[in-house]
Amino acid sequence: MTGKVAIIGGGPSGAVCGLHLARAGIDVLLFERNPRREKPCGGGLTLRATKGSSIWRELQIDGSKVYRLRLISPSRRQIDLELEAPIRIVSRRHLDGALRRLAISAGATPIEETVRKPVPASKGGWRINGYHADIVVGAGGVNDPVARYHGLSFPRERRGRAVGYFVRGTFPRRIVCRFFPGLCGYAWWFPRPDHASLGIELLGGKFKLERAWSLLKQFVRQDLHHLIPPGEKFDLKDARPYAWAEPLPDPKTLETRPLNGRDWLVVGDAAGLVDTITGEGIPYALISGELAAKAIQAGRLVEYTNALQNEILPELKLAARLAPMFYFSPLLRSSLFVLAKSRTLQAVTKDMATGHQNYRGFKMRMLRDTPSIVKDLGRYLTGRIL
Ligand SMILES: Cc1cc2nc3c(=O)[nH]c(=O)nc-3n(C[C@H](O)[C@H](O)[C@H](O)COP(=O)(O)OP(=O)(O)OC[C@H]3O[C@@H](n4cnc5c(N)ncnc54)[C@H](O)[C@@H]3O)c2cc1C
Repeated sequence: MTGKVAIIGGGPSGAVCGLHLARAGIDVLLFERNPRREKPCGGGLTLRATKGSSIWRELQIDGSKVYRLRLISPSRRQIDLELEAPIRIVSRRHLDGALRRLAISAGATPIEETVRKPVPASKGGWRINGYHADIVVGAGGVNDPVARYHGLSFPRERRGRAVGYFVRGTFPRRIVCRFFPGLCGYAWWFPRPDHASLGIELLGGKFKLERAWSLLKQFVRQDLHHLIPPGEKFDLKDARPYAWAEPLPDPKTLETRPLNGRDWLVVGDAAGLVDTITGEGIPYALISGELAAKAIQAGRLVEYTNALQNEILPELKLAARLAPMFYFSPLLRSSLFVLAKSRTLQAVTKDMATGHQNYRGFKMRMLRDTPSIVKDLGRYLTGRIL
């Protein structure tokens, strides 16, 4: 491809797209309205984000490698798992900044401006804040202006919401996730090198934000205080609160929502590429940014949609189908009960948490592992009776 590409948004999806395009010698304008902010996010990176991407070898970012995961069930049953592979937890200011620096050093031009609206240019291409571009990439997250221009914004009922705090301090390296009765989503505690991300995510269902804040405080009171080492202060009055939204696509939306046109495409959150069970989106932002760059280089934007349909969407559609079942059926409660008793189920859960196991292979693995899980449970029950 020859010509200029404007990327709106310098988060993971936009920065990675810009990096690959600039390395291919393409003229890139990278718009980012707020390059210094700490994005409200857990910043948890599983193998889904890190495997198969050469970028990680080049990135110089600090992050906590966490091997300990505590899950707390809606009835407050607690399970501690030691993970074989770490979950990396990074500050989004550091991650996004490092990715943007790579794109800029490869030749992308950074522009610190807010783009209100892409405007079609009379001779073809787009006018973006007075600049001309042949192709525009929407990488602006849930409120992306390119998606909005094409009538593809996620409506209120298809947005997940999250509230939380950044808590200053150095804390033990243990992730804690707690589920609550009737909540589609979970509360989390993710320790980073010099602060922790604490939050609660509402991944669907009807739930008032005030209730989410109050559950979050309950989580802190009941489940976190004893994790804080003596001498370390942990007071929510000193912590910085945040609230944010993310797309929550249903299977039909993922099936039918256009992801590219003749001279535009959307990536990452703007494309709705989020796992609706975990809320994870960074892996799909990185992959989609790279796939978009490849399609632009090839001059065939439809290849981007085709590649997503092969590489990402089947997994995300499955997650969207399973999410209500996972959160609203007795499955969650009973699976956490069985989890406490079965080493086999613990191995599956650890692999899901670290990204070793995907949803598509999950069914086959459960079919294979069910006899051992039943055996584990039988052993537990026999021990109780005798
Ligand atoms: C509370 C919360 C916790 C999360 N935790 C995790 C987690 O632990 N692990 C994980 O994998 N995922 C997590 N996610 C999801 C993850 O944050 C997103 O999927 C990911 O950031 C998407 O990347 P992106 O580049 O597509 O969009 P974003 O990261 O949203 O980046 C968009 C960028 O575009 C810029 N921008 C937006 N509009 C404009 C405009 N008009 N003009 C110029 N610039 C603009 C923004 O400033 C921003 O930098 C979480 C999400 C939330 C809300």
